[in-house]
Amino acid sequence: MQIFTTTQDLRTFICQFKSQNPQKTIGLVPTMGALHKGHLSLIEASLTVCDCTIVSIFVNPTQFGENEDFNQYPRKKEADLHICAKAGVEIVFMPEVSQMYPLDSTLQTTFNAPAAMANVLEGKTRQGHFNGVLQVVLKLFNLVRPDKAFFGRKDAQQLLIIQKMVQDLFLPLEIVPCPIVRNEEGLALSSRNAYLSPSGITQALRISASLNAVTKAIMRGIKDSYELKRIALEVLEGLEVEYLVIVNHELQNIEQIQKNSTLILVVVRIEGVRLLDNLWF
Ligand code: AMP
Repeated sequence: MQIFTTTQDLRTFICQFKSQNPQKTIGLVPTMGALHKGHLSLIEASLTVCDCTIVSIFVNPTQFGENEDFNQYPRKKEADLHICAKAGVEIVFMPEVSQMYPLDSTLQTTFNAPAAMANVLEGKTRQGHFNGVLQVVLKLFNLVRPDKAFFGRKDAQQLLIIQKMVQDLFLPLEIVPCPIVRNEEGLALSSRNAYLSPSGITQALRISASLNAVTKAIMRGIKDSYELKRIALEVLEGLEVEYLVIVNHELQNIEQIQKNSTLILVVVRIEGVRLLDNLWF
């Protein structure tokens, strides 16, 4: 496994790889590190279908708000490298902020995510978050020029906004959505779970339980969003639910769910930690 910390080294590798292996495909897995089995599932998906897998590990400052946890965000360089090497990753790209944003002025985002999708839900409480996400994702796409890039359905809004950017800008790559990985009890894996106490984790299990209750209700034939939300909120009673919405892939609220185009998104705050989960129907 090779580890690159500069954009120059990465670019040199990509140029050589592409000229020496014109038929071979490159898979990119963008992450912020503190890797867990959720990230690993994306890495494995890339290893399965691409000839060369590049994992980026970069805690991107432009997607964090002023009062958010950029400085506290877990950084586990050695453990992450071990996970990547063991999985069989070819390249890890772990740049410093100064590599990705060489001038302070470049910390201003230059690309605006479409407001209708970016200023709602996560974007409502995290102003500018998706501009920062798109800024770094576009930088990574331009540096790596991957054939495929792998993103988790766990961050549903992020995935949909990235897919929209790729479509709108005719970017020459495929976005591969990957299923949510959960622990044995159903809690969606997240680097931020590390902030929770054991009792916080027990409370957090009710989030996936609420989505399971919705799945069962859908299987019983219930299609009405209001009723499905009521069922989910019953399971979450007593918890601080920041939002629970039933939307289409443009993130617009819908009254009746429709197969293959409906998303149920929930954010619950437990012990000050915002926990996201969702159900793609
Ligand atoms: P992050 O390091 O949080 O930026 O996540 C990097 C990628 O891993 C994103 O595409 C996430 O959606 C994905 N991811 C994080 N947690 C999970 C999970 N539990 N299951 C599947 N994908 C995940």
